[in-house]
Amino acid sequence: MRAILFHEHGPADTLQLVTDYPIPEPGPGEVRINVKAAALNYMDIWVRNGWPGIRLTYPHIPGADAAGIIDAVGEGVTGWSAGDRVGIDPTLSCGECAFCRSGWQNRCVRFGILGEHAPGTYRDYLTIPARNLIGLPEHVSFAESAAASLVFVTAWHSLITRGGLRPGETVLVVGAGGGVNSASIQIAKLAGCTVYVVGSTEDKLAQAREMGADVTIPRDTEGGWSRAVYQLTAKRGVDAVVDNVGEATYTHSLRALARGGRLLTVGNTSGAQVALDNRLLFGKHLSIIGSTMGPHQDYVTVMNLLFKGRLRAVIGARYPLEAAADAQRAMENGQHFGKIVLEL
Ligand code: ZN
Repeated sequence: MRAILFHEHGPADTLQLVTDYPIPEPGPGEVRINVKAAALNYMDIWVRNGWPGIRLTYPHIPGADAAGIIDAVGEGVTGWSAGDRVGIDPTLSCGECAFCRSGWQNRCVRFGILGEHAPGTYRDYLTIPARNLIGLPEHVSFAESAAASLVFVTAWHSLITRGGLRPGETVLVVGAGGGVNSASIQIAKLAGCTVYVVGSTEDKLAQAREMGADVTIPRDTEGGWSRAVYQLTAKRGVDAVVDNVGEATYTHSLRALARGGRLLTVGNTSGAQVALDNRLLFGKHLSIIGSTMGPHQDYVTVMNLLFKGRLRAVIGARYPLEAAADAQRAMENGQHFGKIVLEL
């Protein structure tokens, strides 16, 4: 079968297409899926580039997101059969530890992400535990399902389960580009919040408005965007800030928060080491709430909202599997708004 893989960290050129990768056999509790669509995430680029301490088993196949058709069913699997159209929850968990048993699969002691801690989705066939599946209605495409999975479960868990967004609250999303941020804009609107977005370019801000943002603020606003947010909210600040930028924006995000506000984070595109003025934290009764990925129940909830048309997966470009390196370059160059999908 075909697979895209790499043997060492490096630029997109390190990705290779092979045609003789062995087709995996489903173990007990697993199914084998004939992958029809795999979506890219920035995680794929970070894993390919590597970071201190990352441990991959080579050759490594990138990709967290996929959807396809069940092709074979392992021992003990009930409720699924060959031919079923399915989406895949990309959070890997043991299914047995205390966290898993209480429904917190993303806190599992053996937590992992497909494509980082295990071979990923850029390939014709993969095996996955049946507990990671969701059935796809006929009207939902494989591409939409793959494009939605990681970013929507991550944003839902951060904003709703952990962040507790409520109708009538104000939310600021820092950064208009990127899949998690555009999912966050949609989810905050769905939750009944007023959504502010800070972005670097007018194009990105226009796209944020298209996603439902109520107020958009250029990043280079004179006097600083956190001051602009403060003024726009009648010197109150916002109830929640979604900050996945980190180092470059944390101080501004804390300043933009109202008393009792919370900063929600699932990542840090500008750097992990943040400085914060502790006086802001205690003086304004702020909370910083982190999370990564989401439990399976959140995955099911958010995918059902996608299936009902309450949330939408925006697909910016489609590439064939063979062009995975071009697809990753396009992502690195920020050429597209919306998700990049490999179609198989
Ligand atoms: Zn577990």
